[in-house]
Amino acid sequence: MGLAYNTYLNSSKIYGCKNCKAHLANHDDIISRNFRGQHGKAYLFNMVVNVVEGEACERNMTTGRHLVRDIACRQCGENVGWKYDKAFEQSEKYKEGKFILEAEMLCNVL
Ligand SMILES: [Zn+2]
Repeated sequence: MGLAYNTYLNSSKIYGCKNCKAHLANHDDIISRNFRGQHGKAYLFNMVVNVVEGEACERNMTTGRHLVRDIACRQCGENVGWKYDKAFEQSEKYKEGKFILEAEMLCNVL
């Protein structure tokens, strides 16, 4: 797939897709490192780029009920994490509109 990804991040430290190296997020945009994904460690990001969002679905997590959608790398289609559309618990509202990237799916681009 020679499809070009059109967003390039400009930062001293960038996380990319482990599979194809497309830029996904700035290190500076990490909100929290204390998350668990399907593959282990996961990070909460303020924003990510070059991803495709899937259908929204409800998921019960250890921290309560959430409306989430999976996100995949736009270049290679690999699933890299998910986005929180809505949190039903008041204490989890800060996650709304934020993104989880699985550490296992990331590589350091720089
Ligand atoms: Zn990729």
